[in-house]
Amino acid sequence: MSVFEHVCWDEQQYELPLSRDSFWDGMRKGLGRVRLHVEKHGAVDCDGNDLTEMIVTGCLFDFSYWPQVEEGRTEWMCGIAEKAGALNIVAERLLSLSDVPQIWVERSWHEKRRREVAVVLYGRGDKQMKGWVYEMFGYDEDSGWFLGWDEIVSMDGEAGLIFVCDAIGKWLLEDHDRSEDDVVVRWYDEKFGKGKANRILDKVKEEKVGVKRYLDVVEQLRERWCGERTNGLRWEDTRGEEIVKMINDGSAKRIADIRLANWGKAADEDALEMVRYAMRGEEDVAKLKKYLAVFGLREMLQIDDRILGWLADDDRELRRMTYNALGHVKDERLREIGLAKLRKKEDVVDGVYRLFKRNFLDGDEHELVAGLSVFDDAFDMHDEVLDLVDLLQGRCDGKLLRLMIFAYENTPCGECRQRVVESMEKAGCMPTWVRDEWTWDAVFSV
Ligand SMILES: [Zn+2]
Repeated sequence: MSVFEHVCWDEQQYELPLSRDSFWDGMRKGLGRVRLHVEKHGAVDCDGNDLTEMIVTGCLFDFSYWPQVEEGRTEWMCGIAEKAGALNIVAERLLSLSDVPQIWVERSWHEKRRREVAVVLYGRGDKQMKGWVYEMFGYDEDSGWFLGWDEIVSMDGEAGLIFVCDAIGKWLLEDHDRSEDDVVVRWYDEKFGKGKANRILDKVKEEKVGVKRYLDVVEQLRERWCGERTNGLRWEDTRGEEIVKMINDGSAKRIADIRLANWGKAADEDALEMVRYAMRGEEDVAKLKKYLAVFGLREMLQIDDRILGWLADDDRELRRMTYNALGHVKDERLREIGLAKLRKKEDVVDGVYRLFKRNFLDGDEHELVAGLSVFDDAFDMHDEVLDLVDLLQGRCDGKLLRLMIFAYENTPCGECRQRVVESMEKAGCMPTWVRDEWTWDAVFSV
């Protein structure tokens, strides 16, 4: 019997006040229970320990598992610090900290977090933050990007946009080999409307040499891109023979798997069949992986025993790519293999749950629940839950609530949590405690 068998899944999975560990875990994931905790119990844990330092750390560092997709965390953390009465400590610490250590994630994420916190504090009346945000703006040699422009523009609107583009333009003027893309203009237009940024910048380009240079460089770049687009063939139009040739002669090594998958998604059946046929005779594992990548987003119409055998291969990457491709295939054999693997808790991270996306039969939920595993490594945890989330989104069924709650509780990623909540909503099985907590989630508050 699984350890999860005797848990009642309608029951709330946490208790307030939280322990120190649960508070930390909830803060990293962005769970609403952290906010509910401070609302009711302030900055004190269930054993009476003070949590203020932990909350301040949560504001000044980005320690989400996946900063790229965890937008809106700053506002959420600042709201928690405010409720806990710690926002003034955050402000003090922000201005006095000069060195940002490399911990949890890349240092640049922490720096970004701090600039965003400063913008939030400025918005709440702390005027001294404005100068600090401007000071933090500049070109970063390591990444090759200008950093801090988005915070200046979101804080100061038009004036911020002019300042940033003028500064980038002056930097471009210092060396005519330098180049810069139009990301600032695109970002502004996305927020305020197409063409808006150019209209603002055009008005001041005669008096600001930097703005003029910036606009010229961006314009040249756009013309070049436009030329490339009209001269070249679309990638999706590449013929099946050419894909096979590229994989065969090794030149596909430089092509990202997702690009091959996108080609496969758009290809017609004959072209795909050509790729599948070529794969059948291939022995070289590196090339096989490239062939499998073509089926990353598209169903393979015929599968043979050889492909099924790769699900048991010692090469983990080959196994993962095979799961990835076979996840789109409906075939009774895949369900059997999946069940056998789950009973041994094999390949839980590598894709075994994918096999059920199209092959799930009523009653399989018990076997799926029995296979659930908790991992210390956040990336392993995410890989397992992501496959579950895909499966759950395709089958809105209250009988899968256990799987949904497992995913909700254990995913380190806010985007996956949101997808699970949507599945619960659609299946009409969302427990009241999830509904109550979710409205305070870091993702919900974006
Ligand atoms: Zn995710």
